[in-house]
Amino acid sequence: MTGAPGTPVVEFREVSKTYPGGVAAVRDVNLRIRRGELVAIVGPSGSGKSSMLNLMGSLDRPSSGHVLVDGHDVAELTDREVSALRATRIGFVFQQFHLAVGVPVLDAVADGLLYAGAPQRRRRARAAAALARVGLSHRVHHLPHQLSGGERQRVAVARAVVGGPAVLLADEPTGNLDSASGAAVLALLRELNAAGTTVVVITHDREIAAALPRRVEMRDGRVVADTATEPAIGALG
Ligand code: ADP
Ligand code: MG
Repeated sequence: MTGAPGTPVVEFREVSKTYPGGVAAVRDVNLRIRRGELVAIVGPSGSGKSSMLNLMGSLDRPSSGHVLVDGHDVAELTDREVSALRATRIGFVFQQFHLAVGVPVLDAVADGLLYAGAPQRRRRARAAAALARVGLSHRVHHLPHQLSGGERQRVAVARAVVGGPAVLLADEPTGNLDSASGAAVLALLRELNAAGTTVVVITHDREIAAALPRRVEMRDGRVVADTATEPAIGALG
């Protein structure tokens, strides 16, 4: 399931999300994220950032409009196909990474490949490579409680990228970290992006956001600014 070259990795067409109870978290959003972009989503608490990311990651379906991931309209896929798309094309990093107690780092990352059905030896080899990419080769046999918060978040990034996703979605990945660890995680996201991974990162850290090439600013569920050079709203069909 890989979109044709030039296909946006994520596309929103008139997307709205209203939660049960009537909160309109996302309103009429049009957005295109192209392969290779590094995008920051910024905005005050409650402006709809996480809701946007959940829609991008097909964790949630829109109330109206269309969300396309790698060229696939999520609304036209069965639940099973959505699961496959999510497992193979999307990597997630959240503010808190819950590593299973007692599971060594290598296996926690290798489990990110369970869906692909590769044999354990191959999963472990790929996990080791992903951990090397995040600078944790010396921690592969450690247990979660033996890691610092910053290291745990790097494990989360390794797990998110081990399957070679089309897009890495990160929701406040530095929110629980001290500034040095946060900066290291951000530097890692930039490195992965430089190596070809499309990255969308939610942050309320203005300094972090200002350093990223594209910023999409949310307010009350709407995109109120987008520094993309191409117009994100009303762009070709
Ligand atoms: P942000 O990530 O920018 O803080 P969210 O997307 O989490 O914003 O939330 C946007 C709005 O939607 C908020 O008013 C929030 O309370 C509401 N909201 C988020 N998730 C749910 C949910 N599962 N059910 C009901 N309301 C929700
Ligand atoms: Mg949020």
